[in-house]
Parts: sequence; structure tokens; C-alpha cells
Amino acid sequence: MSNSPILLWFRRDLRLGDHEALSAAVASGHPVIPVFIHDEMVASLGAAPKMRLGLSVESLGQELAAKGSRLVLRRGDAQKVLRDLVAETGAGAVYWSRLYDPATRQRDTALKAALRDDGVAVESFAGHVLFEPWRVQTKTGGFYRVFTPMWKAVRGTDITSDLPAPAKVPAPDTWPASDRLTDWRMAAPMRRGADILASHCTVGERAASDRLGAFMAHRVADYAQNRDLPAVDGTSRLSENLTYGEISPRRCWHAGWRALQAGKADAEVFLKELVWREFAYHLAFHTPQITSGNWKEDWDAFPWNADEGTPEVRAWQQGRTGMHFVDAAMREMYVTGTMHNRGRMIVASYLTKHLMTHWKIGLDWFADCLIDWDPCSNAMGWQWSAGSGPDATPYFRVFNPVTQLDKFDKDRAYVRRWIAEEQKAPTKTALSYFDMIPKSWGLSAGDPYPAAVVSAEEGRKRALAAYAERGF
Ligand code: FAD
Repeated sequence: MSNSPILLWFRRDLRLGDHEALSAAVASGHPVIPVFIHDEMVASLGAAPKMRLGLSVESLGQELAAKGSRLVLRRGDAQKVLRDLVAETGAGAVYWSRLYDPATRQRDTALKAALRDDGVAVESFAGHVLFEPWRVQTKTGGFYRVFTPMWKAVRGTDITSDLPAPAKVPAPDTWPASDRLTDWRMAAPMRRGADILASHCTVGERAASDRLGAFMAHRVADYAQNRDLPAVDGTSRLSENLTYGEISPRRCWHAGWRALQAGKADAEVFLKELVWREFAYHLAFHTPQITSGNWKEDWDAFPWNADEGTPEVRAWQQGRTGMHFVDAAMREMYVTGTMHNRGRMIVASYLTKHLMTHWKIGLDWFADCLIDWDPCSNAMGWQWSAGSGPDATPYFRVFNPVTQLDKFDKDRAYVRRWIAEEQKAPTKTALSYFDMIPKSWGLSAGDPYPAAVVSAEEGRKRALAAYAERGF
């Protein structure tokens, strides 16, 4: 391949540190041309994740510039863009970090074959997960369908050290043309909410690394208890960065282990959560239908409401169900692009159980609103909550949003943070929701707070009756 350049295709690995593909490309001695492609998959992202991705791409471009390199931006079908770039630059190889969700795998498999047919060397590398999905197997063979045995199997695995960022990324003699990121208008679908959402984002590799450091220094010691309290800043908030690969799971894992060895016992719970992410990826790899259909087929006959236009679904999306926990969490997501994990479980349970609405409607809404949207974790989370997924919460466990609030938000700090309607002097955060939502929703902070669309008890009874009728 003489001194032909290597095209390094960045996707959800927008970092320079602990990046196997980048380190291999630099070690080869060839010039490296980093590329990001705005293809169909990027185009189809929801409003919040698309905007957040744009911020991450911008940050990566700056990090690369500091290493004497650039990020070449191109728009179009990924296969065509890469073929064009190979032709323009004389590149002999294309490298990328592997992804595991079904849609990406389908694209990448076709693309790999096409490039190889053209005589281009294609190499994919690890880095998005700790354990490759085909490497973790049960004693009898096959993948884990239940979390706890998987956790026990991987907990003690010796994971190699993470890689430093290269000091310099060797540049080609001439750079191919690049689009301008601003022309892609990644924030446009957020409309008037873009600035507010941006103020809640923590973008880029350095910020992610600082976030991990601050969590390990100040919060991991009380993580086991605080992680369940939505008003407390008790979790790492790293999902936003892990989603775009601004930090590697391996770096998080090693930091967790160091904390554990330093006597912070709660770090074990954090490590376990990282393995939940792995579990989601392994399930999506081995049972790709998890992202699109009921994982347990016996749920196919369940009479879900599949109409997203009902007043109940609208109320759920707008944080106006009359259930404080549900509404606070839905508004938190609309404004910040993230939602506390307990909130995610409560709103998902309320939608799929109290409102008997198909989990896909919730999955799609999250995909539009979450800056940490992840195809695998989102699908697993929804199916876990609905009861149709692997290792799901038992279908008959219906979270009660009222008693959950008494347990996890006793003094109502979370509710005050996000619901303006019943407050004499609403908090800034609660008011910011009304600056964020489309004017066409016609809502204002002065509106009366709604009565429950379906009460905790009534919804529970209705769901249990429907399960009994179906013989669950
Ligand atoms: P921490 O508590 O600090 O945990 C550390 C890391 O572990 C997280 O950053 C995340 O990568 C991983 N993790 C923690 N809990 C889970 C979990 N239950 N499943 C998978 N990984 C986990 N997570 C996403 O990253 N993207 C999603 O789109 C997403 N959708 C969800 C939808 C539903 C209905 C539910 C119930 C959960 C969903 N989750 C999703 C999982 C979880 O809610 C978030 O990962 C977590 O709230 C992120 O906050 P954190 O980074 O502070 O987590």
C-alpha cells in the first residue's frame, strides 16, 4: 500500500484517546485522513441526538486540529462517499470502530464487502463495548439472556489497559475537500429549543474525562444509594458521552476498578451498570429483533394501543398526565435531553402499563428527545419496562408513580425542579420547559395542573386484568 493514506471513518467513537482504530492507523506509519459522513443513518436521527452529535463532531474536529490533522466532512451514502474518497486520495485502507446495532451492522457488512471488492483493505476494531458480543458465552454456549449470570461471568475479566491519544496524527500531502459543519444544520430540528438544550450538554473528550474524574472523586462513594434519587446529582451522567464515544467504556471500567480498590465499595455498582450497557449490546447483536419487535413473541397478541395520536399519549409526551413523577421526568427529558434512570423506568411503566400503549411509541419519543439516545440501551430499557423483553421486570410489576415519588423524592425537590404549575414562585428549570416546547402546544406555566389521565390504582387494575385475560 506504499505510503497511501488510511481513511479513518469516525462514527460513534468521537475521541482520540483509547481509540484502537486510530492508534493502529497512526502506528502503521501511513498518513491518516479522518472522515465523518452525514449519511442516511445520521439524517434519520431524532432532533436532540442529531444536534448533540453535531456538537461532538465539532469538538472532534478541534481535537484533531490540535494534533496537526483535520476531520473531513462529507454528506451522502456512506459507501459512495468512501469510494469517492478512496479514488480522490489514493487511500489503500479504511478503518473504523465496530458497532453492533442491527441497522449499522447491515450497512457496514455491505460496505465492507464492496470496498474489499474494490481492492481496498478494510479493518474494523473494538472500542465501543468492553466485551465483544461473541466472546461472552454461557457455560453451555450461546449468549446470556439474563443479566446477573452475565455480570458474574465478566466481573473478574482482566481488561487490557487503555491506549493514550497519539501525540500527532500524520497528515496526507493534500487534504480532500470537506463540507462545512454549519451547512449541515444539525441543530435545525430542535428549533427554538436548541440553545436551551445546548446549555445542558457536556460535550467532547476532555469534558467527558473531567466528568469521569469528578464522579470518581466526589460521587461514586455514595452511588449505590444516591443513584435512585432523581433530585440528587448522584450518577456519572456519562451516558451522554459514551453514546458518541467521547470516552471509552474501558476507561470508565478501569476508573471504577481503581475506585473499588481504593475502598469505595459503591464503585462495584457502577461497574455493574456499565455491564448493563454491555448486556444491551449483546442482546441487540444476538437477537437484533429487540430493536423493532417484541422480544418475547407471546406479546405480539397483546392489545397495546398503537395510536400515538391519543390524548393520553399526547399528555404523556407533554408531561401533562397529572402524575407528578411521570410529568417531572418527561419535562426533564424535553429540556435537558436526559432523564434520570428511575424516571425512565416510571414513565415507561406508566405508558406501557397504565396507558397500555405500545412500547414502540415510547421508544420513538425517547429517540427524538434524548441526547444519550442509544439504539441498544433504549430498546432494552423499553422492553424491560414493558415486560416483553429479556430479563424484563415481571409483567405483573406495575410501578406505582405515587408511591415511587414518596420513596425517591420525599421532599418533592425533583417535582419542584420540573413542574411549574402548582408553584407560587416556580423554579427557573420548571419555567424553562415552557421556553423549550413548541408554541403550538399552547401550554403556559399559568395553566392549572391537570388531573390524572389514568390514576395509579385504576391503571394498575386495568393492566392486570388485560394480562389475566391473555393468560399471562
Ligand atoms: P450511571 O448510573 O452513572 O451508570 C453508568 C453507565 O452505565 C451509564 O452511563 C450507562 O452507559 C450504563 N447504564 C446504566 N444503567 C443502564 C441501563 N439500565 N441500561 C444500559 N446501560 C446502563 N441509556 C442510554 O445510554 N441510552 C438510552 O437511550 C437509554 N434509554 C433507556 C430507556 C429506558 C426506558 C430505560 C428504563 C433506560 C434507558 N437507558 C438508556 C438506561 C439508563 O437509564 C441510562 O443509561 C442512565 O440513566 C444514564 O445515566 P448515567 O450516565 O448517569 O448512568
